[in-house]
Amino acid sequence: MNTNIVGHFIDGKTVLDNGRTQDVFNPATGQAIRRVELASGKTVEQAVGAASAAFGKWRDTPPLKRARIMFRFKQLLEENQDKVSALITEEHGKVLHDALGEFQRGVEVVEYACGAPEFLKGEHSKNVGPAIDSWSEFQPLGVVAGITPFNFPAMVPMWMYPMAIVCGNTFVLKPSERDPSASMFIAELFSQAGLPDGVFNVVNGDREAVDALLGDSRVQAVSFVGSTPVAEYIYRTGSAAGKRVQALGGAKNHAIVMPDADMDNTVSALMGAAYGSCGERCMAISVVVAVGDDTADQLVGKLKDELSGLKVGNGNDNSNNMGPLITGPHRDRVSGYVDLGIEEGAELVVDGRGLQVAGHEDGFFLGGTLFDRVTPAMKIYQDEIFGPVLCVVRAHNMQEAMDLIDRHEYGNGTCIFTRDGEAARYFSDNIKAGMVGINVPLPVPVAYHSFGGWKRSLFGDLYAYGPDAVRFYTRRKTITQRWPSGGVREKARFTFPSNG
Ligand code: NAD
Repeated sequence: MNTNIVGHFIDGKTVLDNGRTQDVFNPATGQAIRRVELASGKTVEQAVGAASAAFGKWRDTPPLKRARIMFRFKQLLEENQDKVSALITEEHGKVLHDALGEFQRGVEVVEYACGAPEFLKGEHSKNVGPAIDSWSEFQPLGVVAGITPFNFPAMVPMWMYPMAIVCGNTFVLKPSERDPSASMFIAELFSQAGLPDGVFNVVNGDREAVDALLGDSRVQAVSFVGSTPVAEYIYRTGSAAGKRVQALGGAKNHAIVMPDADMDNTVSALMGAAYGSCGERCMAISVVVAVGDDTADQLVGKLKDELSGLKVGNGNDNSNNMGPLITGPHRDRVSGYVDLGIEEGAELVVDGRGLQVAGHEDGFFLGGTLFDRVTPAMKIYQDEIFGPVLCVVRAHNMQEAMDLIDRHEYGNGTCIFTRDGEAARYFSDNIKAGMVGINVPLPVPVAYHSFGGWKRSLFGDLYAYGPDAVRFYTRRKTITQRWPSGGVREKARFTFPSNG
């Protein structure tokens, strides 16, 4: 088998469908390093078929036994963390320490999934009526699909399949075609951990594969993470076909900096949150709203100084702070936004365009970029740029800053930097966003909470992982039971049953 072609993982085996393929790049060198197959509808059908065939037995496997496989899976993941991180860095470009961080956050979801016997226990009430008992149980849905973005090739898929699978479902994952290898490698580990064939399948591909999943009536639910236009498409199409859908979309996360903030620590926090992973995080801070001109002047001055020391280069060198963008066209798109910001009248404080990394002249690099005096009317403020571009907006007071956040179409994450507890509490109580940080720039919930945004950052009702995942990946059934005592003939009752 050609190891330079990434195929699919179906029914416990790697398979090729010998159809369309696409280059996978190392973004640091700009070179195509392998090709990935783009699954045909037939291959997707095969994967859904394998998942469907595996469902009955897996559904009836005791949760404790499912959890034991999760424990072994977690151990294998940890033993292979360097290999997975290296694959992430090779295909995504992020620096190794950042790749390891993403991977560890994914493993935390596997850890949470090990608690399945506890969280699947259900609810029981004795004597809901005379000698009548009632209980609610959480039954798996069947075959579930996950469709994931390029920016967290290991973590975002792991937001989905560990919880879906431990709840008794079988799964078909369609990772991003730009960095498919981490999921393929992890699928092998899951198999080694003792997961029965067909319970977890990976199909690589593009829209054709996604549409095949949405069009397959055996797929009961779809979890999606990616850009907002695609999230909306998946939500509408999947829901219209009667599937349960959660679709997490794009973001434009604002940080408010109050005049009383600890400025040096705020600047350090913002540097990591804006430029870590080259700004390609759905929780990246891309807008800073500085309250008051003094605050803005101080902040911009300090950010400018810090940016002069930002180390950009190949992600395989752990001393770098930031790697390249994912593809050449994406780098050009982000660079185009820098041109646009100048045309729109924003003040370009630090220009990352034209950055050359020695020995990596063909890599998809762009340096850290900073704009001041950005206004809400500008496209660079409105659009998700998804690159290392930070926009500073100046506001007169906190309410004006909060109104900006509330009016933005996205509502994923946000944060405030302040020493004032009352202001922080008012902010977290009232701001229209799903995840809020107080002096915490990337308030990504841990595995035992759930992750999701508001407004056009999430279509659907339930968040990813944590307790919401148990709800999303199960269907509640409530059973009411009575065992009449022998021999007593009861009359028919025509009144609605109640305890009145
Ligand atoms: P994307 O929307 O281009 O792709 C996501 C997935 O959808 C991929 O698997 C891709 O193959 C598939 N896809 C792409 N176009 C499609 C189409 N027309 N029809 C059907 N399927 C299609 O997103 P991306 O560029 O891979 O990732 C970046 C985006 O993801 C950003 O907008 C980012 O904010 C978002 N994101 C959001 C979260 C969150 O939790 N809200 C997390 C990570 C990333």
